Amino acid sequence: MTLATQTLNSTSAAFKALVCKECGAEYPLEAIHVCELCFGPLEVTYDYEKLKQTVTRTTIEAGPHSIWRYRPFLPVATDNFIDVGTGLTPLIKSNRLARRLGIKNLYIKNDAVNMPTLSFKDRVVSVALSRARELGFTTISCASTGNLANSTAAIAARAGLDCCVFIPADLEAGKVLGTLIYGPTVMAVQGNYDQVNRLCCEVANTYKWGFVNINLRPYYSEGSKTLGYEVAEQLGWQLPDHIVAPLASGSLFTKIYKGFQEFIKVGLVENKAVRFSGAQADGCSPIAKAFREGRDFIQPVKPNTIAKSIAIGNPADAIYALETARKTGGNIESVSDAEIIDGIKLLAETEGIFTETAGGTTIAVLKKLVEAGKIDPEETTVAYITGNGLKTQEAVQGYIGEPLQIEAKLDSFERALDRSRTLDRLDWQPVLV
Ligand SMILES: *Cc1c(COP(=O)(O)O)cnc(C)c1O
Repeated sequence: MTLATQTLNSTSAAFKALVCKECGAEYPLEAIHVCELCFGPLEVTYDYEKLKQTVTRTTIEAGPHSIWRYRPFLPVATDNFIDVGTGLTPLIKSNRLARRLGIKNLYIKNDAVNMPTLSFKDRVVSVALSRARELGFTTISCASTGNLANSTAAIAARAGLDCCVFIPADLEAGKVLGTLIYGPTVMAVQGNYDQVNRLCCEVANTYKWGFVNINLRPYYSEGSKTLGYEVAEQLGWQLPDHIVAPLASGSLFTKIYKGFQEFIKVGLVENKAVRFSGAQADGCSPIAKAFREGRDFIQPVKPNTIAKSIAIGNPADAIYALETARKTGGNIESVSDAEIIDGIKLLAETEGIFTETAGGTTIAVLKKLVEAGKIDPEETTVAYITGNGLKTQEAVQGYIGEPLQIEAKLDSFERALDRSRTLDRLDWQPVLV
C-alpha cells in the first residue's frame, strides 16, 4: 500500500516533531536520528494538551489487546500499523521469589512471552516498522545482539517488507535459527556488537534502508515506553515505587521513565517518585562502572559475558540512563556470569518463568540490591524480564542436572527414584490399596 492510499489520520496523531535531547533543535518527522548542530540524539515529542483532552483510562481499556491500545502515545500517523499481538504481557505478583528474597511487594513483568518472538524487542520493532512503512521504506535492517534480529525478521515477514539483518558471528544458536527461519538475509559479522553497529552506520549512509535502531531509532525507541504504560495500567492505574531493568544501550530504561512521566503529565496516574535501578553483566558493565565511580560519562569496554543480548560496550543512551538512576534515587549494579546463571535458575524454580541471560542479570541484580538494603521490603518493586530462556540454552547447559535415564519398567523407575537426590522433595510413600 502506498502512502497516498493510506488513511492519513493525522488529526488523531499527537506526535509533533523530532527534537534534539541536547540542544532542543527541532526537526521534521523523517528518518533521521542525530542533530546536525550538536550531534545529540533526536527524540519524538507530542502534543500533551491534545492527549490530555482525548485519552482516558476508558479509551485505553477499550483498545486492542496489544501495545496499540496506547497508540496516541506512539509515533505512528496512520491506522495501518502492524499489530502482531505485541505487548500486554503478564504482570505477575511474585510470591515465592519475593519470600526467598525477603521482600513483600514484588512483581514480574514477563516479556519472555511477548509476541511474536518472545522478547521485549517486539515492542520497539512493531513501532519502528509501522513508521518505516509510513516513511516509504521497503527494505528493513538492523544491527542486533540477537533478539532485535529475531523481531525485525519476523515482523518484516508479516508486513511483507524485505529484510537484511546484521549480527555478531558468535551469537547463540537459538538466536541465529530464530532469525533465519523468517527468510531474511543474515550478515554474521566477525566482530562484537559495537563493530556490527559501526558497519551498519556506514551501510545506512549508502543504502536507502530503514535501520530500526539507526535512522529509525527515534521511532523505534518510543516502543519501549509501553513497558511503562502497561505496568501502570496493570497495577490498577498506579505507578510502582521501584523498578529494576537490564541495560544494553540504556534506551529501554530511559523510555520506561518517559512512559511513567507521560502518564503523570496527562493525568492517567497520580504523580509519584519511582526509583530506577539498572542491571548489567560484569563482563560488559560500562554504565554500572560509571555509576559506581560517580562519573557522568562512560569508558567503552570490550564485552566478555554470557549475557550477549545486553553486551553493548559503547552504549548510546548511557548518559541518560545514568541521569535517570541518579535523579530517581536508584542504583546501577552488575553481576558475574555465575550469578546470572543462578538468577535464571532462581526465577525458574520460584516462579516458573524461564528467562534468558538478560533476565538472569536482572534477577541477580535485584537480589544484590535487596541484600545491600537498597530495596525496601515494603516497596512495590517491578522486575522487568525482557527475554526467553529457550533462546540462550547454552548459558545454562551443564548447570541444571540431567534427566534420570530409566527403562520402561516400574522397578527401574523405583531404583532410579531411590538413588535420586529428588527423593526427599517428592511425596514418595506408596499408596496402600
Ligand atoms: C536489547 C535487550 C535489552 C536492552 O535494551 P536497550 O534498550 O538497548 O537497553 C534488554 N533485554 C533484552 C533481552 C534485550 O534483547
